Amino acid sequence: MKHFPIFLSVSDKRIVVVGGGDAAVAKLRLLLKTEARIFVYAETPAAEIAGWADAGRLTLLRREIAAGDVVGAALLYAAQEDALLDAHVAWLGREAGVLVNIVDNLDDSAFITPAIVDRDPVTVAIGTEGAAPVLARAIKADLEERLSPRLGLLARIGKGFRPLAERLPAGRKRREFWADYYFNAGPRAAEELGEEALPEALSDLLAKHRAAGQGVGHVDLVGAGPGDPELLTLKARKALDRADVVIHDRLAAPEILELARREALIIDAGKTGFGPSTPQEDINALMIEHARNGAHVVRLKAGDPGVFGRLDEELDALTEAGISWRIVPGITAASAAVAQIGQSLTKRGRNGAVRLLTGHDIKGFAEQDWRSLAREGEVAAIYMGKRSARFLQGRLMMHGADPLTQITVVENASRADSRVIATTLSDLPADIDGVDGPAVILLGLAPRAALQAANELVQSRELAL
Ligand code: SAH
Repeated sequence: MKHFPIFLSVSDKRIVVVGGGDAAVAKLRLLLKTEARIFVYAETPAAEIAGWADAGRLTLLRREIAAGDVVGAALLYAAQEDALLDAHVAWLGREAGVLVNIVDNLDDSAFITPAIVDRDPVTVAIGTEGAAPVLARAIKADLEERLSPRLGLLARIGKGFRPLAERLPAGRKRREFWADYYFNAGPRAAEELGEEALPEALSDLLAKHRAAGQGVGHVDLVGAGPGDPELLTLKARKALDRADVVIHDRLAAPEILELARREALIIDAGKTGFGPSTPQEDINALMIEHARNGAHVVRLKAGDPGVFGRLDEELDALTEAGISWRIVPGITAASAAVAQIGQSLTKRGRNGAVRLLTGHDIKGFAEQDWRSLAREGEVAAIYMGKRSARFLQGRLMMHGADPLTQITVVENASRADSRVIATTLSDLPADIDGVDGPAVILLGLAPRAALQAANELVQSRELAL
């Protein structure tokens, strides 16, 4: 380690930046986050710097720096992007015993500025001693994604709460309380109730932890999206990261389950142990049992949990059992399917409304408002519609739909093995035969022409090869 990371106290200290161009602006963006007094020496400062000066955020001196200007400064940045000029400034600094950084000159600098993840008062500094700036940026991006944007707020409020938390026995119980606060109950309370509600949420949480023999469980009902793991929300990823137990349904893609915490118990509620499909009451019982044992449960549902997901039944069961829950929305199959064929669900002048329909319900093939669906320009996304294709066709035709109405079937939307079948109402039953993955039937939509042409071109090339 050639450079030793420390956190320097700069509150009310003087930091001097020499230079008024891009390099100076980049450093100033970071320095302005501190409580230091910033002095900039630049004869022709960038507009941004002048703006900060006008706003009173720094002191701007439109002249060359002199020896006396650096005396007593905490840090000095030579940022004129000119080797000779910077070397002179660095010399002034060294003579005055000030720590000097020459921007983009590691060897002649007494210190370097790390990449920073700022969740003040929590700050992560990343340095590679100049070896791999790309790596530093990648690590920073990764942490930015993983750490709640509210972490700083949580830490500030948590700090004041430390004396009270000492009522919990030191060790595991206290650690669990803080982990619950920082990664679970805290971010949730901040998001749902706002900053002011945090102290009260902390008190409640402490009371819960003091009362409970074990930690308190919780259930996140998470939308897994249509299958492509990149279509998961960040919230869904975080929930999977934290899960003790994941209860998923039949359509959950293996790549998505891979993202669950390594130690998590993964339960397939689509089939395992319960025959072809797990009865809803058993799923409810599973969630409740694990949450009562203190687990953080993720109930992972295909697409969006609020679309044909039997969400309400699960929420009612959890509420009745007194277990806290949260819904994390996901991308529903219809959205993924239209994206894939280059269309939109609604379009000015064509359809000002779109329907999400189910092909069958508890009673069998589902009845719908066929008369309005049969109208020209109508768009609907039909879920679970494969087996009812003939029924759908019959009902729509009976109500006067044009047999040439465009229909697109998207099987396994967003997945590598996806298939798109462009057809018409009259050919639907024949064309959907043989589709065995999950599929959405898009009534009233054909793949966008250019897209179709491009696909045909690819296909003809493949045939030619
Ligand atoms: N909550 C889910 C829907 C669950 S119902 C959502 O929002 O997408 C199950 C039906 O969803 C399937 O029968 C199929 O019609 C549709 N579906 C789910 N995933 C799909 C996918 N990747 N491609 C096409 N259809 C899908």
